[in-house]
Amino acid sequence: MKCPYCSFADSRVVDSRDTDSGVRRRRKCLKCAVRFTTYERFHAVTLFVIKKDERREAFSKDKLLAGLRKACEKRPLPAGAVEKVASDIESELYATGKPEILSSAIGDMVMTRLKNLDNIAYIRFASVYREFTDTDLIQEVESLNITPTPPPIGQLTLPIKT
Ligand SMILES: [Zn+2]
Repeated sequence: MKCPYCSFADSRVVDSRDTDSGVRRRRKCLKCAVRFTTYERFHAVTLFVIKKDERREAFSKDKLLAGLRKACEKRPLPAGAVEKVASDIESELYATGKPEILSSAIGDMVMTRLKNLDNIAYIRFASVYREFTDTDLIQEVESLNITPTPPPIGQLTLPIKT
C-alpha cells in the first residue's frame, strides 16, 4: 500500500477495526510518517447476471461461449478467436468488481466485439439478442455495407443447417 503523499511503498498498520462492509485500517507511512486510512472490502466471487425479466443467474462463460459459437458457426475466423472474445468479456466483467451486471450490458459487449470480428456473426447475434424485425435487420445490414448475396437477407438470421 503506497503512501498517498510521498508514494513510499511501505507503511505500518497502527489501528485495525472491523466495519459492516470490511476492515478499516489506520496506517503510518514509514518514510514521511503521515497517517492515512485504508479500507478492505469484500467482493463477490460469483458474478450474477440480471436478465430482462429481472431474474438473476450466475454468470457462465460456457453459456456465453455457446452463444458466440452459434453466431460464428461456419464463419472463417482464426482459431481461438471466439474463445478470446469470451475470455476478454469475462475478464472485463470481473474487473468491474461489481457483483451483478445486466444481461443487456453483456450483450452490448458481445456486439461490439463481433462487429469488429465478423459482420455475419454480428448480424446473427444481433438478430437473436435484439429480436430484430426484418426492417431492423435490413437497416443493420445496409449500415454494415454487406452485399446481400444469396442466401437472401431473411435467412441470415438462421444458423446454417448442415
Ligand atoms: Zn509517506
